[in-house]
Amino acid sequence: MKTLQKQDKIYEGKAKILYTTKRPKLLVQYFKDDATAFDATKRGTIVEKGIYNNKISQRLFELLKKEGVPTHFVRLLSDREMLVKKIEIVPVEVTVRNIVAGGMSKMLGLEEGIVLERPVLEYHYKNDSLHDPLINDDHILALKLATPKELAKIKKLSHKVNDVLRKFFAEIGITLVDFKLEFGRYPAGAPKTTILLGDEISPDTCRFWDSATKEKLDKDRFRRDLGNVEEAYKEIFRRISSHA
Ligand code: C5P
Repeated sequence: MKTLQKQDKIYEGKAKILYTTKRPKLLVQYFKDDATAFDATKRGTIVEKGIYNNKISQRLFELLKKEGVPTHFVRLLSDREMLVKKIEIVPVEVTVRNIVAGGMSKMLGLEEGIVLERPVLEYHYKNDSLHDPLINDDHILALKLATPKELAKIKKLSHKVNDVLRKFFAEIGITLVDFKLEFGRYPAGAPKTTILLGDEISPDTCRFWDSATKEKLDKDRFRRDLGNVEEAYKEIFRRISSHA
């Protein structure tokens, strides 16, 4: 298949860059090694993180597609680049939690590691200057961040992603603690659109604990200065690659 060249940079985030291509509905998503945490007050580099996150996301997007979850992923282009469908991002980050950790532990004064009886969905308004505040369904609908139909679809897809990923990771000895998803409308700007899963799924956006040892194998190693950060990303890639 012919390689699509990247053209203009249209967005640069903390961990990724988006470029246009000569096809208006397709973008190149480039994965950087830059890492930030705590509202970008902590910054660093995780060597080869971009390569691992690109390939981990590829594998997980392919798995999700097979299981009926529509995503923006088209194909891998290189070590750090994937071709994706251009979507209009819904400005709501969806967090799915299976086990108490991070923000939920802090907000509710709960010990990390408590297994939740049912998954908890959280919504955060995607706004850096407001520090991505926690919102609920009513905020989303009243502020028209998504239509009722879109929100219902987002909720259903988020649960489905959790079911698929939880099972997949359990099979490679990893507990999926929590993760963050972003969705978008495709085709961007069209009068009639469908909801696709966007962004990435990687140790930057998920908490992964080794099921046997409870060792953290995700960005918490960077956030909390636990050491062996690169090794954790590499280990997740290795285990994913080992799955049949
Ligand atoms: O910090 P918190 O506990 O709310 O994070 C929940 C999940 O969402 C974690 O897996 C974290 O890596 C992810 N997350 C993210 N991007 C953010 C905030 C959280 O990917 N801006």
